[in-house]
Amino acid sequence: MDVLIPEAEIRRRVDAIAAEVNRDFAGRPFTVIGILTGSLVFLADLIRLIEHPHQIGLIQASSYRGGTTSGTLVVNDGLLPDIKGRHVLLLDDILDTGQTLSRLVEHLLHKGAVSVKTCVLLRKIGRQTIPCEPDYTGFSIPNKFVIGYGLDFADDYRHLPFIGVLPDDPK
Ligand code: 5GP
Ligand code: MG
Repeated sequence: MDVLIPEAEIRRRVDAIAAEVNRDFAGRPFTVIGILTGSLVFLADLIRLIEHPHQIGLIQASSYRGGTTSGTLVVNDGLLPDIKGRHVLLLDDILDTGQTLSRLVEHLLHKGAVSVKTCVLLRKIGRQTIPCEPDYTGFSIPNKFVIGYGLDFADDYRHLPFIGVLPDDPK
């Protein structure tokens, strides 16, 4: 297993992002929404560094690539609390093409959020095909398939405390 980003470095960036969030969201009713399942570890670490009262929500988005349903994003918001009149901070593990994040921003505004800011732990360099500029980014990384700290390969490896690359890159 190649370690791309060690645990201590992730911790330092999450601290820095939390400091920005603490400054930007002071005095606003806000909800932090994590995109399942990859953002769970990031969400758990980040919210414990946020100093202002806020609510937590979860939303699921699965994209089916290839075959007849190529590019279709299926959204499940059955676990989402009421976000009408609230500011939202939307978290994802990784920004690739930008489809997930841009679609979910629209979805949350449609559900009545006053504003939606976006935050990704990782962003793949040169992969965005849908214009989508996250408000907070942890790390820009090369176009490799990464795992750990919430990110999976075939639903395994999410528990690893670092970001790694599998020995034979499945991509
Ligand atoms: P996008 O919609 O931006 O193309 O893709 C974002 C989603 O694709 C992420 O939420 C994540 O689930 C998945 N994804 C993209 N790249 C990787 C990667 O390198 N590793 C893992 N585990 N998931 C990825
Ligand atoms: Mg995802």
